[in-house]
Formats: sequence, C-alpha cells, structure tokens
Amino acid sequence: MVRRKSRVIKVGNVPIGGGYPIVVQSMTNTFTEDLEATVNQIKELEKVGCEIVRVAVPTVEAVDNIPLIKKKIGIPLIADIHFDYRLAIKSIEKGADGIRINPGNIGGMDKVKEVIKVAGERNIPIRIGVNTGSLPKEILNKYGYPSAEAVAETALNYMKFFEDEDFINMKFSLKGSDIKTTVLANRIFASSCNYPIHIGITEAGTVLSGAVKSAAGIGILLYEGIGDTVRVSLSAHPKIEVKVAFKILSSLGLRDYGVDVISCPTCGRCQVDLPRIALEVEEALEHIKTPVSVAVMGCAVNGPGEASFADVGIAAAGEKFILFAGGKVIGKYKEEEAIKRLVGEVERVANEKENK
Ligand code: SF4
Repeated sequence: MVRRKSRVIKVGNVPIGGGYPIVVQSMTNTFTEDLEATVNQIKELEKVGCEIVRVAVPTVEAVDNIPLIKKKIGIPLIADIHFDYRLAIKSIEKGADGIRINPGNIGGMDKVKEVIKVAGERNIPIRIGVNTGSLPKEILNKYGYPSAEAVAETALNYMKFFEDEDFINMKFSLKGSDIKTTVLANRIFASSCNYPIHIGITEAGTVLSGAVKSAAGIGILLYEGIGDTVRVSLSAHPKIEVKVAFKILSSLGLRDYGVDVISCPTCGRCQVDLPRIALEVEEALEHIKTPVSVAVMGCAVNGPGEASFADVGIAAAGEKFILFAGGKVIGKYKEEEAIKRLVGEVERVANEKENK
C-alpha cells in the first residue's frame, strides 16, 4: 500500500492529509437543536475514539447551539449544511471548525461564493461533498446518467471554482449509489489533484450489511492509498460507525486503536455462552484507547494457544475460565470473576504500554 500524497488541511486541531494518520469521524443522529442529547452522544463518540464529529445544521436553533456544544466537547465539530447558504455562513461565524456543503444544493454558485468568502476570512475548511443524487444538469446531459466519471468531473469543476476564488482549504468526498461507482469516482479524482479525500460508502445500511459494504468499498480505496479521513455510515448508533471504521483501518494495518477482541466461532465443545461473553468483554473494554489484544476462547483445543499469544486472554475449561496475561497462566475462575480480572489485566497492560 502506498498512500497518495495529499496536501494537509486542519479541522480544529486535527490535521487531515499528508502523512498524518487517517482520521476517523462520525455524525450525530440527534436533533442538533437538542443540546443535551447532542452533547451526550458526542461524548459517547469521543469515548470510543471518534476524532471529528459532524452535526446536521438544518435550522437557526441548531446553528445557535454550535458554540454551546463546542464548549462541552473535546473534538472538532463540523456543521453539515444543505439548501441554505446562510446557515453555512452563520455556522462559521458561530465557531464551527469546518463545514460540509454540496455546492449543487446550496442555492446557486453566487451563494457558494459568499460562503467561500467567510470561510476564507476565518480560515475554516470546507468539505465539498458530491453525490450521484445531486449532479448538475449539464453533467448529467453530458454523461447520460450519474456515472463515476460524472461524479469525478463535478468534483473537479467545483475544485476549479473554489480555486478561482482563491480558496484551497478544502477536502472532497465523492459518493456513488454503489461501491463500484464510488471507487471509480474516487480513483479518477485522486489521480487528478492532491486535495485530501474523505471516504465512505453512503447509505450503507444496517449494522451487518453496512459494515460489510463499508469494509469492501473503503477497504478497496484504502488499499489503493486513497483516503485521508473515514466515515462509516450505518443505520445504527454512531459509536458503532467509529468502531467499524477503526476495525477497517486496523485490519489493513493503517491504525491501531483500542482493544482487539479475538474470539472463536464456538462449536460442539464449548460449554459456555461465548458470543455473549465476548460482547460483554468488548463493551467492558470500550474505554481503553491503547492497542491491546484480548482473546476470548471457547475450549481447550485452541483456547490456551490463542489466549497465551494475545496480551491478555481467557480460555474456557469446562464451565470455568483460565486467565492468561503475557503468555502466563494467572489462574482459573468462574465467569464473573474471570471477566473482572481480565478487565483489570487489560487496564494494567494498557497502562504499561502507555508509559513505555
Ligand atoms: Fe470450538 Fe474450542 Fe475452537 Fe472454540 S476454541 S471453535 S470451542 S474447538
């Protein structure tokens, strides 16, 4: 994998592009007008490692909440605006660290110029989002349908428009209605400029199908070196988006974050409820940010091997569990005690790794 060389932009204090780690972001699904719910959800996202958060800004009330939300969170906030350029301008004025617009639906290119002017004055980056669903008429007439080439050409046209306004503080996202279109559009765009690219598969679906589609589409692009920031879109709590994004990045060796739980599929030898226990362990270790490998295994066949290769592990032995840390047996415990001790060992290992 050779990463495409992109220019660097900064959203708040988070650099995107260049050789910086690929940034994981997500979007709240609360009403931004509901301050408490939005702040609480962003805090949940921060806990699982989300590095930038986007909120929908469809109303003046939502804009007014931007400074109040920002006071209570620790990660940069991007305002997502459609249809009304005035909300984009106001979001910048109210302190958003970035905005996301689709120049095709914000009220005309003269309005886009007004947004660019304010973003330029305040040094606020803009994400330009291009989707197959909202391509300009002349592009659709030229290509006949919303092809990958049509999406890429639209993004390149917007790029030129923004550059003509002396604005280069931008990143792009190009999304098709299917994975092939998205991948091809990004490939064309990536080879035509050096702006950072936000990648994701739009409207991917529920947890299972969305995670699989995202892994396939985002995985192809990352493997080709394309992508500076990632958002996995799921019809689920956004903290699952963050977890899936980190899993995709870590499976390609691009980021290591938090606990990686290795668990067996179970079989007729397993005498414990391993799927439930593995989930419980994963949730109990959500707060750990340092990479730690944890094995949760169902019996003595592969259990002791996997559990001793991992930083920390448990392997079921009948109805009890043998706890391993650093390859050594710590003891044999009943379920509740085994999980409690495993969590303690993981916290200790994480501390040691952090202080190395
Ligand atoms: Fe089955 Fe044991 Fe292997 Fe799990 S570790 S799949 S329970 S043989």
